[in-house]
Amino acid sequence: MSQDWEIAIQRTINNNVPRVHRILENHKYILDLAKKLREAKMRVLSDLETYVEQTLESVKRTGGNAYFVNNAEEAKEIVGKIVGKGKIVVFGKSMVAYESGIRKYLQQLGNEVWETDLGEFLIQLADEPPSHIIAPAVHMTKERVAKLLKEKLGFDVSESSSHEELVQKVREFLRNKFLSANVGITGANAVAADVGSIVLVENEGNIRMSTVVPPVHIAIVGVEKIVPTLEDALIEALVQAAYAGLYPPTYINVTSGPSSTGDIEMKRVSPAHGPKEFHLILVDNGRLKASKDPILREALLCIRCGRCHLHCPIYRILDGNWGDAPYSGPMGAMWSYIIYNDYKPALYCTHSGNCKEVCPMKINIPRVLEYIKYMGNKQRSDK
Ligand code: SF4
Repeated sequence: MSQDWEIAIQRTINNNVPRVHRILENHKYILDLAKKLREAKMRVLSDLETYVEQTLESVKRTGGNAYFVNNAEEAKEIVGKIVGKGKIVVFGKSMVAYESGIRKYLQQLGNEVWETDLGEFLIQLADEPPSHIIAPAVHMTKERVAKLLKEKLGFDVSESSSHEELVQKVREFLRNKFLSANVGITGANAVAADVGSIVLVENEGNIRMSTVVPPVHIAIVGVEKIVPTLEDALIEALVQAAYAGLYPPTYINVTSGPSSTGDIEMKRVSPAHGPKEFHLILVDNGRLKASKDPILREALLCIRCGRCHLHCPIYRILDGNWGDAPYSGPMGAMWSYIIYNDYKPALYCTHSGNCKEVCPMKINIPRVLEYIKYMGNKQRSDK
């Protein structure tokens, strides 16, 4: 175990775990919202194909473009056609874009690509996989971040620089990238099937910039993020923020098609000041198959709050190197199997059960992992 990691993760636990407890204690309605959200997501997962169709139709009604893709290759092909070559691209945070290898693919095409979520930006600079689902650079201490920024970008910082100074330097650097970007690429916390809106929750403001400043916005999202209504999507944003320990969130963004205005005779026309084009790419990559399995289906309820990681003894002793990037920790052990057909991360689980206790969606993670172990053993003995 690296000492750097040990220090970084201990600081993270100290900062995050008591804060989530306080949030849930002070805002008890979040528990009811989480229950309601689980029920809404279960409805979708029991008939996912129908909800995919409904979502595609709804996005088109708002003036957006919507696509369903089976796998990463198809996702890359569509994104490559929309972006082209020689562009500046800013990424908000999209796990599915990472899963599909979109950033590296766009770079190979000759585009300048920047991650703008601070954690993602740091792992891009370090060329390392993320170690946590919402805080990808959680394995880096402040001192290591300073060293990295100095080495890779020549920033005038040192190991004694404060958190605030480091963030300010990145802010100055990325501000120009946002303003000159041709395309913004994000994920979504939730997609509303009834109206075709995507909802994104964040604190940095980078998602707001990525979705509004460039003339083209592409959202790359797993099909399991579909919820029945915009109300459910907004509930997901609140629940995710609370269980991530960042409540109230600084921003909740709703995007429904390209920018528009109704200011002349109240006729709604597009575009206005924001993007001229909005593209939603819904990615399957194993999710539809999982939705048909009564045990694996549970894993698709995950809202990526990252709470299970910090309560898991195995995540802590494995240096964060648990799961196939970008999926880590207990949720990552489930998702590594769903997306990459890799059962090995599940084998590390010792079934302490903490993850199930703290999960807002009440996913029975130990049971899912036990099932994946069984499926993995079966795969091996069938060979
Ligand atoms: S499995 Fe549960 S606790 Fe873990 S990230 Fe997903 S929703 Fe959060």
